[in-house]
Amino acid sequence: MPYPPLHISFLGTGTSSGVPMIGCGCEVCTSTDPKDNRLRSSILVSSDTSSLVVDTGPDFRQQMLREKVTKLDAVLLTHPHKDHLAGLDDIRAFNYWSQRSMEVYADALTEEAVRRDFYYAFSEKKYPGIPEMDLHTIGSESFIVGDIPVRPIQVWHLRMPVTGYRFGPVTYITDANRIEPAEKEKIRGSEVLVVNALRHEPHISHFTLEEAVALVQELGIPRAYFTHISHQLGLHQDVEASLPEGMHLAYDGLSISL
Ligand SMILES: [Zn+2]
Ligand SMILES: [Zn+2]
Ligand SMILES: [Zn+2]
Repeated sequence: MPYPPLHISFLGTGTSSGVPMIGCGCEVCTSTDPKDNRLRSSILVSSDTSSLVVDTGPDFRQQMLREKVTKLDAVLLTHPHKDHLAGLDDIRAFNYWSQRSMEVYADALTEEAVRRDFYYAFSEKKYPGIPEMDLHTIGSESFIVGDIPVRPIQVWHLRMPVTGYRFGPVTYITDANRIEPAEKEKIRGSEVLVVNALRHEPHISHFTLEEAVALVQELGIPRAYFTHISHQLGLHQDVEASLPEGMHLAYDGLSISL
């Protein structure tokens, strides 16, 4: 599918607790390096005319303010966990400025959670000022947001299906520890892979850094950024220096253009 020049901004690169984690005094949580401060994971994908976010976690409002986002065409959700979903109510500001509903794309499981957790947005009699959204249930079919092509990729977060997304040359996969061969083929040929790498120690539902590095190598992707990072992974500067060529730890505020 043809694609326009794309910009990817890392809005957040932290795991569910964020970094620093509340109450933690470890060297990462007390680091003075801004790259060790990680809001909950999300990216902004934009072209000259269109823009979308993948996930609206609890830090969504703060991320929109930091990046001075004034217009947003769509929200793409990956899965129903709260660190990816619970800032969704704050699309209200975009409703207000655009005077229209937000286009929200999600798989059936996530859509069910949105209808349950944000029930007031779907009630018959609506209060004024509630979030307005048009929910689109997605499967494996590609779709387009403005001029940004989107191809869903289904991955596994232990037993929960999670939607990864490919935007032309860039693939974004958060919260996964297993990808079936047919879905891996959809990632192959990407110029950039963004993938979760929680920490060094094994985890039941996330890739470790070592597993993420192996995935990038297996698929032959020339450039990769790791995200959804725990304070347990270590200091940004130390981990970054340990990575193979072409691989990087993402950090909040990083942006890349393709
Ligand atoms: Zn998560
Ligand atoms: Zn810590
Ligand atoms: Zn999750």
